[in-house]
Amino acid sequence: MTENVFKLAQDQFEIVAEKMELEQHIREALKEPELCVEVSLPIDMDSGVTKVFKGYRSQHNHFLGPTKGGIRFHPNVTGEEVKALAMWMTWKCALLGLPYGGGKGGIAVDPKKLSRHELQHLSRAYIRAIYKILGPEIDIPAPDVNTNAEIMGWMLDEYEKLCGKHAPGVITGKPLCLGGSLGRETATSLGGWFCLEEALKNIKCKGKTVAVQGYGNAGYYITKYLQENGFKVLAVSDSKGGIYNKNGLPSSEKILEHKRNTTSVIGMKNSENITNEELLELDVDILVPAALENAITKKNADNIKAKIILELANGPTTLEADKILFEKGSVVLPDILANAGGVTVSYFEWVQNLSGYYWTEDEVHSKLSQRMKSSFMEVWKIKSQFNCDMREAAYRKAILAVAKAFKARR
Ligand code: GLU
Repeated sequence: MTENVFKLAQDQFEIVAEKMELEQHIREALKEPELCVEVSLPIDMDSGVTKVFKGYRSQHNHFLGPTKGGIRFHPNVTGEEVKALAMWMTWKCALLGLPYGGGKGGIAVDPKKLSRHELQHLSRAYIRAIYKILGPEIDIPAPDVNTNAEIMGWMLDEYEKLCGKHAPGVITGKPLCLGGSLGRETATSLGGWFCLEEALKNIKCKGKTVAVQGYGNAGYYITKYLQENGFKVLAVSDSKGGIYNKNGLPSSEKILEHKRNTTSVIGMKNSENITNEELLELDVDILVPAALENAITKKNADNIKAKIILELANGPTTLEADKILFEKGSVVLPDILANAGGVTVSYFEWVQNLSGYYWTEDEVHSKLSQRMKSSFMEVWKIKSQFNCDMREAAYRKAILAVAKAFKARR
């Protein structure tokens, strides 16, 4: 997104590394990505003109295994942003005990302005440009902001054509018919829901009202799970703005239908339009940032009223905001824990691909539930032991796991 997102990722790491007295050379190794490539993608548009797009892929480190992480399509994607997101993936995978390092990629493009044909062309061109650094044992992409199973299917096909063999384990979040896993589409939000369920057993929270920022895959499904479990979602939003009803919004499906018909949640019946800024400061019990980085900053942290913040987005909270929220007594369930359900089911998908044996949805859900709940409890214990916030506790566990693998290799 912006230059300082990578700085945020580095600072979050350095602060905890310092407290843990992590050896200097390990800090240096983990402060920067192992690799970050920038590629230039000329695309013949439907109109006949050729446009050139910029793509990126960052591999943060391979100490625990192949790098893993999504590909996002967004106009603000930069090399700095994918470097930050790849670093966050390292901690997320290590925290959940997945045998991966962190990776992330993206293309600077507004996919809403492309035809389906142009989108496919661009997705395939990206894979042609980077396929040599991908592989089921090297680097394994997945969906992220504005990408989905269909795009993963095109990318897999392009990769397999280039390599001349089937390689379903090279990419996760694929369509089911190409080796995707049951439960992958809903995994980020279901994992977030499991994490929240555990949190509510340990944190006193007076009511059940929620605001959700973002209505992509994560925002939609978390709204659905919350509503199904008796929570009142008072507000949701997308990049164009938000909607609010103090008694609770209509069902998640109705909102999605409205968004599909009109391109935005705004203007939904039985609700008033609000801004994204207003949404974050609403008087609710739980706030779910499920959009992009830099949502909660020192400018609005003081005005945030939610007791629990469930970070389904990556990097939505700045360092200063974290401090303000901690001092106020709000509990931030950090991104590397709260949104780890997506990559966890990606891991299950990869395991199924490598073994060629496929699981039922119940198996996926129960394994996801176990991993999310036990990771929550481990982080909760570390938080109590060090009297720190949940982010620091999660980083402590993740950094320790990566550092151990680093040391074992030399
Ligand atoms: N893009 C998701 C994330 O940020 C999922 C990554 C994956 O499944 O590899 O965690």
